[in-house]
Amino acid sequence: MNIPFARVPMAGNEMKYLGEVLESGWLTTASKASTLEKKFAAYVEAPFACAVNSGTSALHLGLESLGVRPGDKVFVPSMTFTASAEVIRYLQADPVFLDTEFGSNLISPEILESAIKKHPEVRFLIVVHYGGQAAKMFADNQESITAICKKNNIRILEDAAHAFPGKIGDKMVGSYGEATCFSFYANKTITTGEGGMLTTTNEAIYHRVKQMRLHGIDRDVWNRYTDQKPSWEYDVKAPGFKYNMPDVNAALGLAQLEKAEVFRKERQRVAEYYFDNLVKLTDAIDLPLIHIPFQDHAWHLFPIVLKEHTSPGRNEFIAKMAEAGIGTSVHYKPLHRMSYYKEKYSLNPVDFPNTERTWHGNVSLPIFPFLKKEELDYICKTMTLILKK
Ligand SMILES: *Cc1c(COP(=O)(O)O)cnc(C)c1O
Repeated sequence: MNIPFARVPMAGNEMKYLGEVLESGWLTTASKASTLEKKFAAYVEAPFACAVNSGTSALHLGLESLGVRPGDKVFVPSMTFTASAEVIRYLQADPVFLDTEFGSNLISPEILESAIKKHPEVRFLIVVHYGGQAAKMFADNQESITAICKKNNIRILEDAAHAFPGKIGDKMVGSYGEATCFSFYANKTITTGEGGMLTTTNEAIYHRVKQMRLHGIDRDVWNRYTDQKPSWEYDVKAPGFKYNMPDVNAALGLAQLEKAEVFRKERQRVAEYYFDNLVKLTDAIDLPLIHIPFQDHAWHLFPIVLKEHTSPGRNEFIAKMAEAGIGTSVHYKPLHRMSYYKEKYSLNPVDFPNTERTWHGNVSLPIFPFLKKEELDYICKTMTLILKK
């Protein structure tokens, strides 16, 4: 068997919509990108959506529009991809790294409360909905991240690169926040090759993001060429960026969006299979900690953690899985162990006990639509052979 870590499902209207773009003669941002914005906004029940050329661009524009300025400090988990934190540095602000809950890799209300006590000056928080499970943004009769931030005058940016489509109670991720950022990178839950989306409930943020994604120009450039009335003139309001999403990419996104729930259900089936078949290995591994109903989870990742005493260790386990033809990955090597952040901010692993425990043994198993039952069987049997003494 040869089972890759990720396999992109591509069997819908991708070719058709792509053909329409090629025939239109206009390859960059135009009607496909704006249709994707409308359909995506409707899907996640957001008032406003802005398509961009990557999840990282969405994060950068989101922080900029929330008002992060040089010298500001921004809370961000250490257990995330570097993009979540690098955008803080783009704005010459500084990350304050947080530990996360063991098992879910999420920031919890308790972790946030104690971080605020230590760093009362911090005015911004980046929440990462790790693996596709939303953090506790809302909770009945309990502390929630949103309530704590409101009380402490902290503005929230959500990194939802893993969390489409995801839910918290009756709210879609993307429907309630000031700046929620999605990624359509090649291995994400839906893909445009490269691409991203920012959704917001705040109209001022929407206008700022729209302007800054295209050079700080005060309106859509493509309207200049397609409008009926002659309109060659535009104004530049700020030194913006070049972050617009080309229609070539948006065409793929439209086709993928049509299958988002089919894909999500397929990933949920894989997750359920792992839970059912890996419980017998829980002497050797920790399974992911899930706080929400399975159907509210986007299931981008299925991360397990090899226990401290488990032999073989993580690196050897990954090598043995690869020998058996099974691709795995690690999400993530924490940012406090990356030389740039470690050296610049003098970070010490003892300040991240849960993240360290995770990092000691974390491995992500294959989880993607149409992963076959025989393949899942083979993955679980191989793991049993490797881990059972
Ligand atoms: C993929 C990812 C990003 C960046 O998205 P791109 O589209 O690759 O720029 C940001 N944050 C997290 C957590 C991600 O997994």
